[in-house]
Amino acid sequence: MNTSQEIQVTPHRGRGVIARYREFLPVSDSTPIVSLGEGGTPLISSPRLSAIVGRGCEVHLKYEGLNPTCSFKDRGMTVAVSKAVEGGTLAVICASTGNTSASAAAYAARAGIRCAVVLPAGKIASGKLLQAFAYGAKVVAIEGNFDDALRIVRRLGARDDFAIVNSINPDRIAGQKTAAFEIVDDLGDAPDLHLLPLGNAGNISAYWAGYREYRDAGNSTRSPAMIGFEAAGAAPMFHGRVVENPETIASAIRIGNPASWETADRAVRDSHGAIDIVTDDEILAAQQWLATQEGIFVEPASAAPIAGLFKCCEPARSPAYSFAQIPEGSRIVCTVTGHGLKDPEVMMDRVMKLTAVAPNEEAVLRAIGF
Ligand SMILES: *Cc1c(COP(=O)(O)O)cnc(C)c1O
Repeated sequence: MNTSQEIQVTPHRGRGVIARYREFLPVSDSTPIVSLGEGGTPLISSPRLSAIVGRGCEVHLKYEGLNPTCSFKDRGMTVAVSKAVEGGTLAVICASTGNTSASAAAYAARAGIRCAVVLPAGKIASGKLLQAFAYGAKVVAIEGNFDDALRIVRRLGARDDFAIVNSINPDRIAGQKTAAFEIVDDLGDAPDLHLLPLGNAGNISAYWAGYREYRDAGNSTRSPAMIGFEAAGAAPMFHGRVVENPETIASAIRIGNPASWETADRAVRDSHGAIDIVTDDEILAAQQWLATQEGIFVEPASAAPIAGLFKCCEPARSPAYSFAQIPEGSRIVCTVTGHGLKDPEVMMDRVMKLTAVAPNEEAVLRAIGF
């Protein structure tokens, strides 16, 4: 029988990021808190990635797929929707590559307000689109890409009817800082390196703000080098110019003109980090590697920093940030941003190859190949 001492408690899981970190967030006693218990996601140590980096370095994965709508967007959305409700807004609107719309729809439902999402037609992973419908959002598909959708939303948001809950809303960025706080709280200090995917560049900006604020508050002694990875076909920051028709299988980072370009550039520069690119093949290989080697299934965009970590370990590939120089025992965190079930299409060809065999042990053993 379990005694109370034997029961493992994760005290922060399910509380929500505003309850846990309110002194760092733009809320007051009069802000109605709209929360689904986001945050408190596990920081999972990866022995196999640590072995690949070598020299006593530790790699940890911040598994953001375990948020209420299965991506990190929920951290920012709890703050953005709470502030929108405090301001008397009756509807939120966003452009989305998928996860922002899923999150906005859920938090709007929770708040009892309306939600409109503007999406590039045919470009949204099916799990994410399904979420927007399930939570009751008004979904509009446009014949254009994400950057077109965001341009429209910016104009509509200038009217009084809507609050924009894209990451151009500073409340979103404020909420997303809490992931950096959690990492410092779990590790006891900030890591040396932080790797993450780069799309609209809000998240890298949020992490950097979070690491700095937490250090200024005396909760850590340092801040990490921020290393962002764009998909090779959607790499405006890496190339230093807008990409008109971004293309990548990693739909969450299929963005040609990042809204937080300047703050992200500053984060990379001030942290002595880097921006690099990974190809779609590298992304898919890293996604499969992570699922089969560590039991962590993430969507393609989330595998970009894992593909990036492999690249950083191979000086011959001229990575923008080479791990050949990092000190022994460095601590590395990779954020894996969204759950693999959101994007079943990328796995579907393999699933479709499944054919039935005769219902007996011999046929099953033959099929297993043992
Ligand atoms: C939004 C998103 C990103 C990109 O984050 P930015 O803040 O736009 O750079 C990466 N991965 C997933 C799963 C996302 O939903």
